[in-house]
Amino acid sequence: MDTFRDLGLSEVMLKTIAGKGFGEPTAIQQAIIPFLMDSRRDVVAQAETGTGKTAAFAIPILERLGNPDGRVKALVLVPTRELAIQVAGEIRSLCPGRRIQVVAVYGGQPFAPQRSALKHGADIVVGTTGRILDHLEKRTLCLKDLTDLVLDEADEMLDMGFVDDIAAIMAHTPGGRRTMLFSATMPKEVLAIARRHMGAYETIATGPENHARRLIDQVYVEVREQDRFEALCRIIDREPGFYGLVFCRTRTETVSVADMLLERGYAAECIHGEIEQAERERIMKRLRSRQTTVMVATDVAARGIDVRDLTHVINYDPPQDPDSYVHRIGRTGRAGRTGTAVTLVIPRERRALDLIRRTTGKAMRRGGVPAVADIIAARRARIEEVIRQVMHGEDAGPYALLAASLLEGTEPAVVLASCLRHAYGDELDPKAYREIRALAPQAESKQHTRLFVARGRRHGMTHRNLLRFIREHTGVKERLVKDIEIRDDFAFLTVPPAEAALIQKRFGRSGGRPLVGIARPGQGRKMAG
Ligand code: ADP
Ligand code: MG
Repeated sequence: MDTFRDLGLSEVMLKTIAGKGFGEPTAIQQAIIPFLMDSRRDVVAQAETGTGKTAAFAIPILERLGNPDGRVKALVLVPTRELAIQVAGEIRSLCPGRRIQVVAVYGGQPFAPQRSALKHGADIVVGTTGRILDHLEKRTLCLKDLTDLVLDEADEMLDMGFVDDIAAIMAHTPGGRRTMLFSATMPKEVLAIARRHMGAYETIATGPENHARRLIDQVYVEVREQDRFEALCRIIDREPGFYGLVFCRTRTETVSVADMLLERGYAAECIHGEIEQAERERIMKRLRSRQTTVMVATDVAARGIDVRDLTHVINYDPPQDPDSYVHRIGRTGRAGRTGTAVTLVIPRERRALDLIRRTTGKAMRRGGVPAVADIIAARRARIEEVIRQVMHGEDAGPYALLAASLLEGTEPAVVLASCLRHAYGDELDPKAYREIRALAPQAESKQHTRLFVARGRRHGMTHRNLLRFIREHTGVKERLVKDIEIRDDFAFLTVPPAEAALIQKRFGRSGGRPLVGIARPGQGRKMAG
């Protein structure tokens, strides 16, 4: 495998890349960087989302840019404004010390600041087609010195109907420029653009690592906020050999989700940035030995997790940016095995999901919460398999006599069912699951918030103590606190959202284990079900 050094890059670029934390080049980078470094031919490149295509074109462009003089040398066309911002950021982060100006230009924003940024000198422009055309027509952007044109995420641009825009922009560029087309997929419409608008081009397609990526089944599931935890449990239960990571946004949330999972009988643990090294290692050991099968983690803490063969990565909430999505899901489906990445989304997180979907493209599909009947059926199949294995294994030994005695005068099916019930408890009981209602388009808002308090009877917590405690420390009036429930190790209460925020702010973020967090359904509920 090639290193970045093998790709013939300058020392200063190698330093920049190392500073960004890139270890080895990805397959597409290995294939395309040397080509772009020593040829001026057009190129069509295909590689899955998340394989570093931006750096694959940005590094050679920057290496060949020469001294920046504020005239636009490279133009990168992208389908969306979010991508314009993201790609411009990635290019900037790859600019070695020199004063190269990278300007992002996109719609939905006032024209004037972009015009002035362009006027003050731009070496590389990243933009959406519509706004680029505007600037060209108003002559606030000049492309006569352009040497490199990149059509990034070409399949998406096509889907969005930008073919004509692309052609119109090309008409403003000099004939000698090089055109590079990058796409996650290569439908024939994309190839048609290449044939019609590009010179003789080289095709460089995905390397083997991208096959591994395709082994990740990416699903998002829309749920109501109060069903999020129940949905998580069902997804875990649906997979008999579940072994996975559950990502949460905050440390507080990892702790409360892990607690709720433990309460429901899962071998769960959490790991976050404030856990000290020695404990961290013990936690990791338990995960590797599968004593722990559900690890709840923050992005930061997950960085050091090097566990193989995880069946699932679950995003308990969608990550804020597509990069962390890519990094999170990359933890499953390793070593040629199939993995599943599930992202849970509540209505008000749809925008974060849209942002991710725009970068992952068609790889992500919509899924549902597993139905209780399916989970039960999967468990039944699993039990059957275990029993059949036992039957085919060693003979029953001392149990044979007992079996004969039990069968005397009783229906065999009744005897067997009793044994199974004894062995498996209520594993096949659908009542262990709470109902999940279909998503009502805009429910939310006025709802009260159920809070979880990490103090219970064992700590001397009573109904009255809790009320006094809340009033004294937060000033929240007793009459606003509803549905208090005191359990052995913790307690619950319900308050309006503003008060919930206040209480959490006061107790949620102090050092160590947070005292108060948002309670999830399936725990501390008074409602029927
Ligand atoms: P694509 O366009 O192929 O979907 P991006 O260019 O957006 O992928 O890259 C996805 C992420 O991978 C970015 O966060 C980028 O910084 C990172 N990345 C790119 N190349 C490497 C590398 N060689 N090693 C580690 N991370 C990389
Ligand atoms: Mg990209």
